[in-house]
Amino acid sequence: MNVYDSNRILDLTKKINYVLTNTINEADCYVLNTCHIREKATDKVYHEIGRVKKEFKNKNKPIVLIAGCVAQAEGDILLKKERYIDAVVGPQSYHKINDMILNIEKNSKPFNYTDFGVIEKFDTLNHIKNSDSKISSFLTIQEGCDKFCKFCVVPYTRGAEFSRSIIELVKEVKQLVSNGSKEITLLGQNVNAYNYKGKKLSDLISEIAKIDALKRIRYTTSHPKDFTEDLIQAHKDCAKLMPLIHLPVQSGSNRILENMNRKHTIEDYLQIIKKLKKVNPNIKLSSDFIIGYPGETQDDFEKTLELVRNVKFINSYSFIFSARPGTPSFHLKKIDNNLAKERLLIFQKISKQIKTEYREELLEKTIPVLFENKTKNENKYFGRDECFNSVIVESHEDLTGKIKNIIITKVSQNTLFGEISSKLIHKDFAA
Ligand code: SF4
Repeated sequence: MNVYDSNRILDLTKKINYVLTNTINEADCYVLNTCHIREKATDKVYHEIGRVKKEFKNKNKPIVLIAGCVAQAEGDILLKKERYIDAVVGPQSYHKINDMILNIEKNSKPFNYTDFGVIEKFDTLNHIKNSDSKISSFLTIQEGCDKFCKFCVVPYTRGAEFSRSIIELVKEVKQLVSNGSKEITLLGQNVNAYNYKGKKLSDLISEIAKIDALKRIRYTTSHPKDFTEDLIQAHKDCAKLMPLIHLPVQSGSNRILENMNRKHTIEDYLQIIKKLKKVNPNIKLSSDFIIGYPGETQDDFEKTLELVRNVKFINSYSFIFSARPGTPSFHLKKIDNNLAKERLLIFQKISKQIKTEYREELLEKTIPVLFENKTKNENKYFGRDECFNSVIVESHEDLTGKIKNIIITKVSQNTLFGEISSKLIHKDFAA
């Protein structure tokens, strides 16, 4: 979501004649858009500012703005501790960025803009053209979260669940497609909780699927509690909806899920997967896991391993529990750190083995790939298959923006390599 927000900040600041530079020491204004999900996010902010200070030694300092969730969570602390920062702006207030910059240009004092103005934000953004022209683009459709998992900062940094108008979203997708996008990833902290005046995520998907030049639709991140029957059915009805679903589970133990306040059980989770695979046997899953949540016993951990072996996630993102200030789990007694590390290693070894087996099965298969860009190496193109695997192919033809069937000839842990096949296996072959 920060990528979408950063792009929109660029679109906004163009109105006051700011443009993007890739050379740090040429910048008049430096915006650091932050994420607070992982540990040490605040330390990274101070580190980054140290880097900017070095770049601007003996020069006029640029305007320095800290945006995003760290700004929301620690705004006043940042302003007090680091005088080099001119203003902090929360994720629901960045539509005011131009006023902030113009005020700072007039030498105003450091300012904290961290109101929860999500309605006002999107009202403003709806009137600013989205100039993103990547083959694969992001679109925020929903923000915030009402679930209050005990380990998570999102409900405090992004606020309550809010869904954007379906009319405005269809308009923005059309804009992105006319800019050249072939694939849209619909974003939300709880994307499948999307609900605008009774219109759900499945309705939005079926609306944008009508746009002819749009070839692929993805959405992330989903919560099991909001995985409704209509969304499952969309995976049968909509050929443009890609078959990889990122569905965080966090733990394989019902006891830990309850302690986390996750609002679903493992049985609920497995039932969703069963229904999804029934409507579309090609569905694959990826997930997030917290290893060593306070109170996690060996039995709880083994249940997580059992779940991973059972579902065979093609990607598992795993982290040791890290207590985020301001969340209910912050004061819980942590499990021994060495034990948590040991469990993480065991978990990652097993999930890596599953991933390797999955990727080896792709060898010699022919799969449709949407190519996004040419790599730095001559005549090599980067694209993604339907399950979001990175694919590299050598070609003399410009493949950018095209969907081609690719025979996979080599696999590594993070990339698939292949050759263009002449076989037609996909009805949306031509992009
Ligand atoms: Fe955070 Fe997701 Fe839980 Fe919401 S559902 S509190 S975003 S982990």
